[in-house]
Amino acid sequence: MEVIILGSGSPLPHPERAGPSTLVRAAGSDFLFDCGRGVLMRAAAVPLLPVSLKMVLLTHLHSDHVSDFNDVVTTRWVMSPAPNPLAVIGPVGTRKFVEATLRAMESDIGYRLAHHQDLNTRPELITEEVERGVVFENGPVKIIAAPTDHRPVHPSLGFRIEAEGKSIVIAGDTIPCEGLDRLCRDADVLIQTVIRRSLVEAVPSQRFKDILDYHSTTVDAGRTAARCRVKTLLLNHCVPTPAPGTEEDWMAEAANHFTGKILISYDLLKITL
Ligand SMILES: [Zn+2]
Ligand SMILES: [Zn+2]
Repeated sequence: MEVIILGSGSPLPHPERAGPSTLVRAAGSDFLFDCGRGVLMRAAAVPLLPVSLKMVLLTHLHSDHVSDFNDVVTTRWVMSPAPNPLAVIGPVGTRKFVEATLRAMESDIGYRLAHHQDLNTRPELITEEVERGVVFENGPVKIIAAPTDHRPVHPSLGFRIEAEGKSIVIAGDTIPCEGLDRLCRDADVLIQTVIRRSLVEAVPSQRFKDILDYHSTTVDAGRTAARCRVKTLLLNHCVPTPAPGTEEDWMAEAANHFTGKILISYDLLKITL
């Protein structure tokens, strides 16, 4: 199993970081978790085309996690030589989001259907809203969802993907909670959105400080990883973006609470299990 961080960024635009999205390659299938800014540019570097995606899984509907969903849908549709329905799994609200996305693309869909004689079907999406439990199982691959706590963004999900005796948890944006702990138990890799409290508190903007109450800090992430006996903790979607040379400081805050392996994310970071 392989995990590739397609986008390590946050809502704040950054020249070297795409928005949050993570690719897991398991037993020959590609699973895309979230579709942040620039997801297909980074996927092209893997290389991966959206045509071959097994499914898209959304942790929540915050804009930074879904901003390029339309690009995944349109590019897959246009590049597929035959109808190629895309499975989408997400929290309650996903169906409404998917339908709204298709409505927003209505003109483009019309242009392309009129222009290409061999394109006769509209983009097809098979959307499933989930809350918890096994959401996908096929051969050696199993994906489990659990509710996380990113309130007032509600509902939100974390996912655990298991294959070949290994496990990866996509925590997404959440504070520590029981659902997250359940997913993390004895996981090989935990990919956790983190903020650094001291840096966020130093920004003279209440709107920015508002993010403190619905994200895990580096300390929280270390504690979650230790409590759940995770092997590797990957600090991801770091807010604010770590200044070059400060990565060790971020990891050190987590390491005060967790003795396992700690990594800090960058675009196209790959972990092979
Ligand atoms: Zn969020
Ligand atoms: Zn986010």
